[in-house]
Amino acid sequence: MKDAVLVIGAGVAGMTAAIELADSNIETVLIDRLPTAGGNALDLYKAFPTDDCFYCFEGSRSRPGIRKCFYRSALIDQPNLHLRTDTEVAEISGSPGSFTVKLTVGPRYVDSRKCILCGLCLELSNAFEQISPQCQPQAVIYRPDLLDDGAKKAESDCPTKAINLNAEPTEETVNITDIVLATGYHEMQPINVDEYSYGKHPNIITQLELAKILDPNGESGGALLRPSDGAQVKNMMMIQCVGSRDENYYAYCSKICCVFALKHAKIVSSERNGIGITVVYMDMRTYDRHERYYRETRDSGVRFLRGRLHLIDPREDGTLDVTVYDSLLNKYLRHNIDLLVLSSALEPPESNDGIIQLLDVQMRSGFIGPSDPFSENEVVAGDHLYVCGSATGPTEVPESVTQARAVVSKILQGRRS
Ligand SMILES: Cc1cc2nc3c(=O)[nH]c(=O)nc-3n(C[C@H](O)[C@H](O)[C@H](O)COP(=O)(O)OP(=O)(O)OC[C@H]3O[C@@H](n4cnc5c(N)ncnc54)[C@H](O)[C@@H]3O)c2cc1C
Ligand code: SF4
Ligand code: SF4
Repeated sequence: MKDAVLVIGAGVAGMTAAIELADSNIETVLIDRLPTAGGNALDLYKAFPTDDCFYCFEGSRSRPGIRKCFYRSALIDQPNLHLRTDTEVAEISGSPGSFTVKLTVGPRYVDSRKCILCGLCLELSNAFEQISPQCQPQAVIYRPDLLDDGAKKAESDCPTKAINLNAEPTEETVNITDIVLATGYHEMQPINVDEYSYGKHPNIITQLELAKILDPNGESGGALLRPSDGAQVKNMMMIQCVGSRDENYYAYCSKICCVFALKHAKIVSSERNGIGITVVYMDMRTYDRHERYYRETRDSGVRFLRGRLHLIDPREDGTLDVTVYDSLLNKYLRHNIDLLVLSSALEPPESNDGIIQLLDVQMRSGFIGPSDPFSENEVVAGDHLYVCGSATGPTEVPESVTQARAVVSKILQGRRS
């Protein structure tokens, strides 16, 4: 591989950068520490601002005119693109423009080139899982912590011998000219924020968990059922700014959680008949062009309550009595609901710390900042180093894609000069 680019993180931003670099005849190694590409967008069901299915994006320029599933597009059939899942950076040496990067690959318990998705292992053991029907690579994944006798039987009975339960990690070294950081975000699990009782009651979930429930490919087929007992949800509440705009956790505003809460509220009120929804907020921050979402959601019958959560009192019948302080009425109001959804902060992934240290890039609230905070080149993180998508801080998909394209354009400019 000559003059190759390493893209760290195969979410929407990393995939976009990698596909466009590969289309521009640049050898590109795209890595993700998870077994499948797609990042957080893999779990999001419908996408604001268009309400399209998240899977359906335009493919590679090398396949013009074909609008097909993003996750199955150029990732497998673009010869300049080398996707390595289950892979992380172990070491970086050399100098900018001539990096030597040691990667840790695997363990790869399922050989994705051999798996034909026959489903046998899924029937035999809970240790195997198919992340999504569209995932890439198209293969099941194996969770070693769930090893059972069924998994051992699957290993011996797999028709293509794709399973190796004793697989070990391997190492690979690549010579790299430019590095793109696309490590994304993590949705905070508000376990330590006592007032929300997250993790203590099954009917208190986060927005990402709600997105998975609403997805027709999910366990309930898209039906909004109570996690505790599978009963139909009749009333639900969303609480905004959980862990964000809070000096005890993250002082920053997570920027996109008002809009995705509106998206979910609108989906529920317009597609799941008769479910009452209240959104409890401090401010509804619909940045940019998303005010439309607020108006449509309000018009669809969703109730908005300006205030803060006061108390959660679980009842024996599985419902929750939730008391909210309404700051406009200056009153405490009690609601009986089936499901409480927390709009939890978007935080930097833990692995960012290692990368920031290895590459000596700037940190911005734990995310990766530009090398020059006053420059307009937000995507330049250093010499031959670039950053895009939610690795820079919470971003929506169109913004992540725009930044990824800006990175590609910078790399191409660098090679022409
Ligand atoms: C509930 C919810 C709903 C949303 N709905 C919408 C919507 O409707 N429309 C919209 O535009 N946006 C929406 N978003 C935002 C959307 O998820 C992001 O814009 C998008 O996922 C950002 O993509 P990304 O590639 O930058 O990051 P991510 O999707 O976070 O991908 C980052 C990837 O990097 C990998 N990675 C991280 N660290 C490493 C490492 N050290 N080594 C290797 N790999 C690593 C991760 O495994 C991951 O696959 C929503 C977000 C949430 C939480
Ligand atoms: S049994 Fe083998 S081929 Fe079938 S889904 Fe499992 S790993 Fe894939
Ligand atoms: S986007 Fe909305 S919910 Fe998220 S932190 Fe900002 S104000 Fe709070």
